[in-house]
Amino acid sequence: MENVEIGIIGGSGFYKMMNLKDPAYIELDTPFGKPSEKILYGSLKGHSIAFLSRHGIGHRLNPSQVNYRANLFAMKMLNAQRIISITAVGSLKEEIEPCDLVIPDQFFDNTFKREKSFFEHGVVAHVSMAEPICPYMADLAFEKAKEMGLNVHKGGTYFNMEGPQFSSMAESNTYRKLGFDLIGMTQAVEAKLAKELEICFLSLAFVTDYDCWHQEVESVTVEMVISNLNKNIKNANRLIEHIVEAIDKDRSSCKCESSLENSIISDPELIPPETYKKLKPIIKKYIKK
Ligand SMILES: [Zn+2]
Repeated sequence: MENVEIGIIGGSGFYKMMNLKDPAYIELDTPFGKPSEKILYGSLKGHSIAFLSRHGIGHRLNPSQVNYRANLFAMKMLNAQRIISITAVGSLKEEIEPCDLVIPDQFFDNTFKREKSFFEHGVVAHVSMAEPICPYMADLAFEKAKEMGLNVHKGGTYFNMEGPQFSSMAESNTYRKLGFDLIGMTQAVEAKLAKELEICFLSLAFVTDYDCWHQEVESVTVEMVISNLNKNIKNANRLIEHIVEAIDKDRSSCKCESSLENSIISDPELIPPETYKKLKPIIKKYIKK
């Protein structure tokens, strides 16, 4: 089993990492099924990283079909301590413009058709989602993005819709009235699962469009998303390199590595052996069997 420090999950348009040293693929199977794609791993700026394409190469899986649990658990199996998740988003605010980068700090999860917890079949955990993003990683990403001269916004609430269709005008206007900043289809769920795995989670949201609410701008289309994504790919790759290069191996500056502490509510004695075995990489720290 490879030992990686940082997992990178690429979204729409972002299907591979550039500049990886000694790249190789590993095919993993997890207790929650297979990840979306083989995992590419290698060295980047002296750090070992693993890259996974969220929708699979060729974009085969829609946001509801992605096996988020398998994707995130695979990163845990590789011992990833931190995850950088790249995503394309629509803007719900005038001042957040297409091709800008946003580092969201909050999520509103409105999805209903996906598995979003590892804790089931005899073991229940309630992790806190008050702070879904690793503050250390958000600060670092913001600093590096500014140094690169990117138009970057720190903080913002990401509304996670189910998709795969884009919003109707009524929906888009409602989300704006509720004060959300961004709309996307994947990040809230990944953030929840990363929290259960005690992995630091950073979301880099590249804006591709104004959803459909903007009167003077054409409503979102796949063509528009792809065109703006292509402009962002190089920046995304460079930004990841800068973040990875500067990242601290020590995680004492955030509390992510103990996010599961005091969260498991079930009686340890009653956890079925097969459930324990499945979740061992996550719960062995707190429950010995
Ligand atoms: Zn952290």
